[in-house]
Amino acid sequence: MINETHDTSITSLYKELGIRKEVLKFGREIEAGLKERFAAIDEVAEYNQLKVIHAMQKNQVSEGCFHYASGYGYNDAGRDTLEDVYASVFHTQSALVRPQITCGTHALALALSANLRPGDELLSPVGKPYDTLEEVIGIRPSKGSLAEYGISYSQVELLSDGTFDYENIRKAIHENTKLVTIQRSKGYQTRPSFSVKQIGELISFVKEIRPDIICMVDNCYGEFVETIEPSDVGADLVVGSLIKNPGGGLAPIGGYIAGRKDLIEACGYRLTSPGLGKEVGASLGVMQSFYQGLFLAPTVTASALKAAIFAANIYEKLGFFVVPNGSESRHDIIQAVTFGKPEGVIEFCKGIQAAAPVDSFVTPIPWAMPGYDSDVIMAAGAFVQGSSIELSADGPIKPPYAVYFQGGLTWHHGRLGILMSLEYLVRKGVVVL
Ligand SMILES: *Cc1c(COP(=O)(O)O)cnc(C)c1O
Repeated sequence: MINETHDTSITSLYKELGIRKEVLKFGREIEAGLKERFAAIDEVAEYNQLKVIHAMQKNQVSEGCFHYASGYGYNDAGRDTLEDVYASVFHTQSALVRPQITCGTHALALALSANLRPGDELLSPVGKPYDTLEEVIGIRPSKGSLAEYGISYSQVELLSDGTFDYENIRKAIHENTKLVTIQRSKGYQTRPSFSVKQIGELISFVKEIRPDIICMVDNCYGEFVETIEPSDVGADLVVGSLIKNPGGGLAPIGGYIAGRKDLIEACGYRLTSPGLGKEVGASLGVMQSFYQGLFLAPTVTASALKAAIFAANIYEKLGFFVVPNGSESRHDIIQAVTFGKPEGVIEFCKGIQAAAPVDSFVTPIPWAMPGYDSDVIMAAGAFVQGSSIELSADGPIKPPYAVYFQGGLTWHHGRLGILMSLEYLVRKGVVVL
């Protein structure tokens, strides 16, 4: 129960943080309409929390798992047990979870290069993959790309309603097709993100044509959003970043690949060296944060989802175009809001920054960034550099002037961030309440 004094003090603290009464009131009204949505998210989090704890118990995680390991890392029990825990969580035969995997792109590049050979073809049946993968594959020419190693690539676009073009996927699969890559999250595109069920249907379709084709899912931003993961519906490999959902905000670096034993073994040989594989690679003291982050990941992901849904409903109500919209089901933690003018993107990002626990006094400004054809503004006040499970936002300063945001380690922080974004938009006159 929140008593009156308590409520008054919360309101005055919001005021002290810079949120005006009208913004808070508007936010409270929106929030009141989200009770059922939030209850459903909590139920998913409950299931996933139990799943993670069960995996930790089953694999007998002990205090010894947190010990520092250095050098070659032979018999690094903390590392090996964590990989068993990931395999249990994803219901796979094996997993590779390492601080030596530097980011999500690296994990994906590793899984691909470990399991493709010259003459093989890689197929994306879901349109263009995430930007950074273009150079990995060689869609944009790049040193060391798969293309340089004689691995060809083909792509089938989604149909205009965002569904799979089964007819052309069938045509695109031929003798040399070795691996199919499916990106779960839309990333920073406008297509819908796929549900795990949809991904399962696509995998079944591919396997019916050629059961030996390896089906890999880029699971970035999708972990723990649903009660099942792509590996529960036939994916041979699932891949992701530990500074997104499964790191729970605590992992300071890292990536994971979970899947079939022989494919993971190949990843190990590629990450370290043929002959050495998973046997080497010391965990250098990060194990406690990997375990604890995974333990927190279900509720952290739930917080990020609540923040995304809260924002969608706030800005939809104010007449802006939001993707996903306020009521549709969620398959990742990313939210896009289209403001139609530069000030919208800029003020939104300023608000997110101003609500951060770290670097809140910094003012983000649009800047030219490598790889972008317009100025970009980014807001992040994160404990871990670039961590996008922490509340963060960015947007290119070009039409349609959309901002993308994600994360929030706690729902209370996510809510503050969204309220602060609204406060900044009101101050600038972009929004009138
Ligand atoms: C973030 C992301 C990646 C790349 O991860 P990095 O850690 O930024 O290298 C790949 N695919 C998707 C869908 C992502 O969201």
